[in-house]
Amino acid sequence: MFIDRARIMVFAGKGGDGKVAFRRAKGLPKGGPNGGDGGRGGDVILRVDDGLNTLVDFRGIYEWKAADGEGGGKKQCTGADADDLVIRVPAGTVVYNEETGDELADLGPGDSVVIAKGGKGGFGNEHFKSAVNQTPRKATPGEPGEVFPLRLELKVIAEVGLVGLPNAGKSTFLKSVTRADPKIADYPFTTLSPQLGIAHIDQSRRLVIADIPGLIQGASGGAGLGHDFLRHIERTKVIIHVLDVEPDNALTPAENYRAIRDELAGYSSELAEKPELIALNKLDLMTDEDQQEAMDDLRTALQLDAATEIYPISGATGIGCPQLLEAAYKLLHRDRVESGW
Ligand code: GDP
Ligand code: MG
Repeated sequence: MFIDRARIMVFAGKGGDGKVAFRRAKGLPKGGPNGGDGGRGGDVILRVDDGLNTLVDFRGIYEWKAADGEGGGKKQCTGADADDLVIRVPAGTVVYNEETGDELADLGPGDSVVIAKGGKGGFGNEHFKSAVNQTPRKATPGEPGEVFPLRLELKVIAEVGLVGLPNAGKSTFLKSVTRADPKIADYPFTTLSPQLGIAHIDQSRRLVIADIPGLIQGASGGAGLGHDFLRHIERTKVIIHVLDVEPDNALTPAENYRAIRDELAGYSSELAEKPELIALNKLDLMTDEDQQEAMDDLRTALQLDAATEIYPISGATGIGCPQLLEAAYKLLHRDRVESGW
């Protein structure tokens, strides 16, 4: 889990100014006042969108401005109210006033909050007409909209967890598909805390991926860095199980697969039941023929049914990674797709 932060300025719209105007008619040089009121400035609203899981949309956009209300017109025309500006945020976003540090909102699923109110429109001169003043020349300006510097904070929960023995290539894969910068080395335990990264599949689809390091034999019993790290994958929804096609521990990929599965099951049955994708990694080390043989061997050894895919990848070259991400995304959003989302 890590904290995603964004700093933004929100500007609600200013109210439209009231108008000074007088009725004109033939033979009537100056009729009564008929200047209209200004329209309301737009509010800035934060609304939770369940499809979001990060604050990346705020990178590079600092100022968020709602439109100003329209000024009042002649002939008692009231200016139009401005549209509100709706900013979409992920569930779990906590909003602070950056200046005072006050917490302004803690947004759960379905929530929506007016975070900055638009200014009221000013009054046109018609408003000031009275028995003693038939021709007021007074109108008021629209009120300013509220302006706040905000800090948004979100505890990001990874959707996809990478598991596999040390050196299977998890960090390399994460680095290749996200902008995360995990340490990579050819000795075990290079990574001491879970690394998160966001993989952008395309403009609108992305995955938050966590590298879950330190999964070794005995981890579920508390050996090595086990327990702490396993806790992090409990919250993920899909597991990518990364297997080294030529493991440096002299075992076969299938044997290593089982070792990791045993650790997951030993830790919690809930964890073991999470949907999993198997990725056979480092295939750049092999000829096409050998790759096919390795895939077949793994399939046979694990007695996979025909419906279970093995994803051939190379985290180092990026080959096969888009297909794997696509599959992970589908699996993650399976329920939505089925219900016609
Ligand atoms: P992790 O312990 O699972 O995070 O594994 P790393 O990503 O740190 O990788 C371990 C070693 O395998 C490093 O020397 C990497 O350069 C190497 N490696 C990782 N992925 C690939 C790959 O796709 N192809 C090749 N040839 N080497 C890889
Ligand atoms: Mg690593």
